[in-house]
Parts: sequence; C-alpha cells; structure tokens
Amino acid sequence: MAPAHRRVALLGATGSIGRQTLEVLRREPDRFDLVAISGGEQLDELASIQKEFGVARVGVKTHAHRDKLCALVAHDVDIVVGEEGLAALARDADVVVNAVVGFAGLPATISALEAGLRLALANKESLIAAAPLVASARATPGAELVPVDSEHCAIYQCLVGASAHAGRPDVRRLLLTASGGPFRGWTAERLRGATREDALRHPTWSMGEKITIDSSTLMNKGLEVLEASALFGVEVDRIEVVVHPQSIVHSMVEFVDGSVLAQLSRPDMRLPIAYCLGLPERLDHRWGALDFAAGFELTFEAPDRDAFPALDLAYEAARLGGAAPAWLSAANEVAVEAFLAGRVAWIDIVAVVAAVMDRYEADPLETLAALYANDATARRLATASLPQ
Ligand code: NAD
Ligand code: MG
Repeated sequence: MAPAHRRVALLGATGSIGRQTLEVLRREPDRFDLVAISGGEQLDELASIQKEFGVARVGVKTHAHRDKLCALVAHDVDIVVGEEGLAALARDADVVVNAVVGFAGLPATISALEAGLRLALANKESLIAAAPLVASARATPGAELVPVDSEHCAIYQCLVGASAHAGRPDVRRLLLTASGGPFRGWTAERLRGATREDALRHPTWSMGEKITIDSSTLMNKGLEVLEASALFGVEVDRIEVVVHPQSIVHSMVEFVDGSVLAQLSRPDMRLPIAYCLGLPERLDHRWGALDFAAGFELTFEAPDRDAFPALDLAYEAARLGGAAPAWLSAANEVAVEAFLAGRVAWIDIVAVVAAVMDRYEADPLETLAALYANDATARRLATASLPQ
C-alpha cells in the first residue's frame, strides 16, 4: 500500500530545525507536500523555499516584511502576517511542524491542536509556558502532539506512540539525558569568565543560538524537564537528568521492575523530525545509524547542580505550577537575548531568571489572556533585573 500523502505546514522554516525539516521533505517528495511556511527576518530564504517547493502560503512577522516579500514571490502566493497569520497557517495542513523559537511559537501550537491536527513540536517554549491550556487543546478530537525534541522523541518511542503516557502505572521514572554542554566540568570560578564564543561552541549538536545558550546554562535541560512533564503527564519528581556527553542515548524510561528502555542513534535532528512526520511509519534514511563495530563509549554522570542552578529553578517552577513555568521561560528569553547582544555576562543569565522567580505571584493560568499578561510581567521584571 502506498504511504499516506500528507500536507505539511512548516513554521520557522528558515531556522536550524526548519532547514533540517526541508532536507527530510526533499528526500520524500511523494509522501509530503509543503503547503505553508513562515519565518522571522530571512525573507530571501523564505522566497527561495517558496519557489523550490511551490508553497501556496507564507507567514511573515510584520506588514513591512509582507511588502518586501511581495516583491520576491509570484503574485498568487498568499502572504499572511503576524500571530494571526501564524495561527491561520497552523489550522490548514495534516501535520504542523512548529520550529519557531521562543514564546512567539504559541499561536501555532494552540491553533494546530484546536484544529485537531498532528503537531510535530520543536518549539518547547510554547508548551512549557501554556501547559494547562495545551492540555485542554490536546483533548480536541484528532489532535496529536508528537515531540521533535530528541530526548522527548526518544521517550515517546520507548513508550510506543499512542500509549506514550508516563502516567501509566508500569513507568517508574523518565531519565532525560544531557550532553552537559560546552561548560561541563567547569568550576563556578571559571564560569565567571565564560564568553559568548565559548557558550556558542556546543560539543555535540549544531542548533540555533537561543537553544545553544540554553544548553550552556543547562536551562535547556530544565525546560526539557518541564516539557517532559507536560507531554507525558508525569510529575517532575519522577524525571531525572543524567549527563551523557556522547549524545547517543537520547533518553530512557525506567519501568517498575527496574527494566530500562533507551533510544540510541547518532545525534542528528533529521531522525526525530522524520519520525514525527512519518509516524506510524519509519522513513528509510539511516540518519541516526550507529557503527557498533567501530566501537564507542557511553558514559553517564550526575549533573553539577551548584555550577548550573538553572536545573533546580526549573524543578521549582514545575512544583509551583500555574504560570511559574511561563515566568521562568520568559525571563530566560530576555536574559539570553541580552547575553547574545553582549549586554550581560554569562553568569547573569540564570541570576536574572532567579531574581524574577523570587517575585513570582501564583496564578493558575486559566486563560490565554492570563498567559499573555504573565508573560509580559515576567519580561518587564527580567528587563528591570538586567545588570546595567
Ligand atoms: P532558530 O533560531 O535556528 O530558528 C528559529 C525560527 O523561528 C527561524 O525560522 C526564525 O525566522 C523564526 N522566528 C524567530 N523569531 C520569530 C518570531 N518572533 N515570530 C515568528 N518566527 C520567528 O531556532 P532552532 O534552533 O531551529 O529552534 C527552534 C525551536 O526548536 C526552539 O524552540 C528550540 O528550543 C527547539 N529545538 C531545536 C533543536 C535544534 O537542534 N536546533 C533541537 C531541539 C529543540
Ligand atoms: Mg533536546
């Protein structure tokens, strides 16, 4: 039987995950049809993707971007703008790949689920910030949330697809692996001198700048603990972070009898992307294939929680629940942006997040309006906490 033909909307098409998704689509022209794309600043690249794949609809951030893009593509291409545009693109496809970075990905996450579509989610920030709202959107008939993030995709595969719910009584805990980032083994003293260039030098993955900085502070792993909790319905005290510098074991599930299942592959994001697009079929490209005969080491160790306090901040935000994860993620976005712009030191990133979380006021986060208000408050406090 021929594989099902799927219409794909790719939001954040010009980023690291976006480009790797395009590589998967190029290899599978008979299986997938790219019907919509969006991007932030890279309009020439958007125009070239539109032409290559004959994409009908393109989303841009502003009306000024719309005017520029109009001059680069044929007049019958439908160009939509802003959050509304992103939401519209995410309602009209079979699979929506959300590869936008940061809280800006929220409209796509909510729309795709409310429209009852498959959401292949790379944009962890929207799920973390909006967990209670995403949980209700996920109840829409047909809605399916499949994780692109390699650790979560690994756990999903260990739990086997549809029953990927760690609330299952046979699951004891989830073991999230972390490479440890570029600063693994650095002392608190040495970390004081960490530069932008040091922080952007990830040992095993090549990714966008924001997540690369998050990996250097271990905030990425903290966010992933929150992401796993929301995705698989498990409290964070049953999620453990294990440092595994080789990035071959992408995460593990421990069952009540002590048995552990793991997913292994070379670190290549095209594998989880293809898995989310092709499910329930696996695509035959061997992107992750390992050469066991060549021999390699797998090592595991505990993270250094004193040198990397972001981890404990994330666990604490999870225990607080409500809008606390949204505050953590928003404050982190502001601090990382300031670091990338050269305005604050590396050690200030997590210090700013901690200062904002000290001022958290409990909110159960029942509406989207409440989420936007909480996001704005956390951003304002984070901006005010940046060292001058
Ligand atoms: P990136 O910075 O390379 O790309 C981000 C994309 O979002 C670009 O297309 C950009 O134009 C677009 N964008 C940025 N700001 C926007 C805005 N305000 N409105 C609309 N579009 C906007 O990021 P990335 O590394 O591809 O990461 C994307 C998401 O995937 C992040 O949430 C990240 O945590 C997650 N993720 C990435 C990787 C990876 O290997 N890169 C792995 C796991 C998870
Ligand atoms: Mg990850």
